[in-house]
Amino acid sequence: MSVIDDVKSRLDIVEVVSGYVPELKKAGRTWKARCPFHSERTPSFAVDPERQTWHCFGSCSTGGDVIEFVRKVENLDFREALQRLAERAGVELRAPSPREREEREQHERLLAANEAAAVFWQAALAGAEGGEARAYAERRGLDDATVRAWQLGFAPDGWRSLTDHLVARGFSEDDLIEAGLAIKGDRGVYDRFRYRLIFPTRDGRRRLIGFGARAMRPGDEPKYLNTPQTPLFDKSGNLYGLDRAGDA
Ligand SMILES: [Zn+2]
Repeated sequence: MSVIDDVKSRLDIVEVVSGYVPELKKAGRTWKARCPFHSERTPSFAVDPERQTWHCFGSCSTGGDVIEFVRKVENLDFREALQRLAERAGVELRAPSPREREEREQHERLLAANEAAAVFWQAALAGAEGGEARAYAERRGLDDATVRAWQLGFAPDGWRSLTDHLVARGFSEDDLIEAGLAIKGDRGVYDRFRYRLIFPTRDGRRRLIGFGARAMRPGDEPKYLNTPQTPLFDKSGNLYGLDRAGDA
């Protein structure tokens, strides 16, 4: 039995969901309540104790098992939801392998580098060198409130403005390259985004996973430049070594 099945077999989905949805009531074979994931007046959220699944037949029209429920309701990733339920079920998860730990640590470093880059670019947009970028944003209908809400920034024109700034703050050039912030060329490492308006991209958990960058000068190509595929952009579900979580 995989650790996932082991955890699930020790828990009752009705009991777990009831902890989050106290109004869950038995209605024939299933249990029903108003959906915790969308606003509604009449219950379209159902839990099936036989199959140990839940489903929203309303506007979510989605469902899953107990892990998916906790993942969604607590806004966790799969591994974190599994961890939480394993604790509840009294199942010990295998400790992460050295490779998984290294991957996790790298993700933390890359997210930190992205956050630091966003702060640097925001300051550049607000500062003396950001005058043209502010005027450009304004011409494109991006008012101050939008600029703040989206945490827009300005990547200055230098080859190593950001790279030097972040290296001075303890980030390695390798991490900047891995995060897609810098590029390794024949003559060394340089900023990927130069003289561009920067749009941060966050995932569903508000983690800063990348950037979009708009050229501001006519003739600068490409017009839109995005963070390339990076370890943070791995959307295959293998994040944090989940593909191996069932091996324990
Ligand atoms: Zn729903």
